[in-house]
Amino acid sequence: MHYDVVVVGAGPSGSVAAWKLACNGLKVALLEKHKLPRHKTCGGGIPMVAADILEFNELKDLAPEAFIECDTRYMRHTFNFETPFLMPMNVSDNTNLSLWMVRRDIFDNALAKRAEASGAELLDEHTVKQITCLPDGRVQVEAHHNGETWVATCDKLVGADGVNGIVARQIGLRKERSLAIAMEAEVPHDWKSGHPDLRPEVLHLEFGAVPKGYAWVFPKSDHLNVGAGFFSSKKNEKEERTGTKEFLQNVICNYLTSLNVPYNPDELIYHSYPLPLWHGQNTMQNREGNVFLSGDAAGLVNPFFGDGILHALRSGKIVATCILENNTVNYSKIITDTFADNFNAALRLSKIFYQWPSFCYRNGVNRPSATQTATMLLCGQTVFPDVTDRVTKRIREAMRLGRRKSSVN
Ligand SMILES: Cc1cc2nc3c(=O)[nH]c(=O)nc-3n(C[C@H](O)[C@H](O)[C@H](O)COP(=O)(O)OP(=O)(O)OC[C@H]3O[C@@H](n4cnc5c(N)ncnc54)[C@H](O)[C@@H]3O)c2cc1C
Repeated sequence: MHYDVVVVGAGPSGSVAAWKLACNGLKVALLEKHKLPRHKTCGGGIPMVAADILEFNELKDLAPEAFIECDTRYMRHTFNFETPFLMPMNVSDNTNLSLWMVRRDIFDNALAKRAEASGAELLDEHTVKQITCLPDGRVQVEAHHNGETWVATCDKLVGADGVNGIVARQIGLRKERSLAIAMEAEVPHDWKSGHPDLRPEVLHLEFGAVPKGYAWVFPKSDHLNVGAGFFSSKKNEKEERTGTKEFLQNVICNYLTSLNVPYNPDELIYHSYPLPLWHGQNTMQNREGNVFLSGDAAGLVNPFFGDGILHALRSGKIVATCILENNTVNYSKIITDTFADNFNAALRLSKIFYQWPSFCYRNGVNRPSATQTATMLLCGQTVFPDVTDRVTKRIREAMRLGRRKSSVN
């Protein structure tokens, strides 16, 4: 069997790429190792601007109501589960931003089915084991399916197979990685119970409980997604991982307790997974120019917030456009032009914020404008280069004043 394009991985990135390619008449296979729908370890928070990438308003073939479980408009911040600040994401009528809360099994399945409805061949339970660039310019793909080997060739291959994807490994890309480690649990919730700030329109972020990271509670229709994660430093990665599981589980339990959510520790099911943080410009395609990486496989996770779904969707669309416009030679450059400035500035802010979280909480997070700025950054309505220098200047100034005050006292 020969395809114009084989896409490996039916996460948001792969499904959007397959959908756009198939819509435009290409013969596409979308390979997914799990049976769909599948659980994906994730908080499932997505900036509502994803609607534009997914062309919801133009196409109407997919109803967002089918997978948006809660449309959050408030953030509640705490530090060590104390000093709460509940702030709206929008203060003026000029903005109407929100963060969707989805269940990844439902959201991802809807996107994969959309690709299939557009003509892509959706092959779940197909685990790609080997890709080979053939001398004639085609790519051969071998996958395991129910104990048998599935083989096909294609002109172009998209590796949208996530942080531990086989495609990047086999074409020798992304050897240097910077990871965050995060864990989540889904806790059944009755909306009439618990802390009064537990509401479907409020997402919760906790900044003191996890060194170099944060914890969250994301509302879903009948449960809470409660999680915690931290940005790992390459230098101390091994030491940091020791005891991580128990530590993050403990934070999740403490978060639930602080919000008066009843739970049985023996019944909580924890899922943990790495996130590939942006850590500088990288090549996203092979030398032959026929294999491309997108989404987590390309390391497109914002190093300040740790969000990756929007960037996975966007890069899936970019790779499809490059293939359709016969412009694959520029794919890596377009990805760099799209993400590098913003993510590099996010990385600079991340280094300061997560080093002095208590200080930044007291002098930044608790300002009403911080929630709006964070929302605008997540939704791409403002960019980190416009924020990072201003915020770091303010933090340094506050630190200088603090030092002067303590030396006077
Ligand atoms: C605990 C946690 C919480 C998170 N919370 C958020 C959040 O709230 N908001 C946000 O924006 N981001 C969040 N993220 C990040 C987000 O989950 C990822 O950035 C996003 O899923 C990337 O999408 P993707 O399509 O690139 O890859 P994925 O969603 O990882 O999809 C890759 C797919 O490829 C398949 N695959 C892998 N190998 C093979 C193979 N060999 N053959 C065939 N198929 C294969 C996988 O099964 C998977 O379905 C979170 C991550 C973690 C770990």
